[in-house]
Amino acid sequence: MNLLVTAGPTREPLDPVRYLTNRSSGKMGYALAEAGARSGHRVTLISGPTSLEAPVNVNCIPVETAREMFEATSIHIDRADVAIFAAAVADYRPVSLAENKIKKSEEHLALALVRNPDILGSARSEFGFEGVLVGFAAETEALEENARRKLTDKGCDLVVANLVAQPGIGFDSDHNEVLLVYPDRSEALPLETKVHLAHLIIQAVEEAHNRRG
Ligand code: C5P
Repeated sequence: MNLLVTAGPTREPLDPVRYLTNRSSGKMGYALAEAGARSGHRVTLISGPTSLEAPVNVNCIPVETAREMFEATSIHIDRADVAIFAAAVADYRPVSLAENKIKKSEEHLALALVRNPDILGSARSEFGFEGVLVGFAAETEALEENARRKLTDKGCDLVVANLVAQPGIGFDSDHNEVLLVYPDRSEALPLETKVHLAHLIIQAVEEAHNRRG
């Protein structure tokens, strides 16, 4: 199979030295790319800035901003059988990029932000993707309900959901505890390393791909 994975945070520049970003190490997405390659699939990894090394046998495409990730995805999704969106994309970016470093002056400074494109939400509607579509949902409450809404709204075959306000799992951690939400059922996986979870998720997408014939 041809697998497309997005991973890591995006960076939205504010001035030459500052940016807005999301808290994301990229570990889950890289583990998925690596697990996919180890299982013999052709993998393209579109990644925001991380401190991780590119996995072997993976075609790595570095990007910075959400708009760059959107562009790269729009190009590479054409060839994909499976698209897994594990990136923590910044939902908003500064309206304008200051040419010079913003100096401190007033006591308060208001930032004007504008919505970034929704890459996962564009997969079916804008990119015309017909393969297996997997989204992630990092929630602080009502996990299954929010994940199921995402699954329906974005046309996903699977949403991997996790509660992010729990210590020891999720952000930066090597471990995660996730709920797999399918159109017809949900499956809770026990606390696992991201590396092992990645293999389970790759198996799940292989099964979803085979079910489609
Ligand atoms: O709505 P929310 O940001 O929680 O959705 C998370 C899912 O959507 C993840 O799979 C993430 O990679 C994807 N996403 C995206 N483009 C955005 C925002 C989120 O692809 N602009």
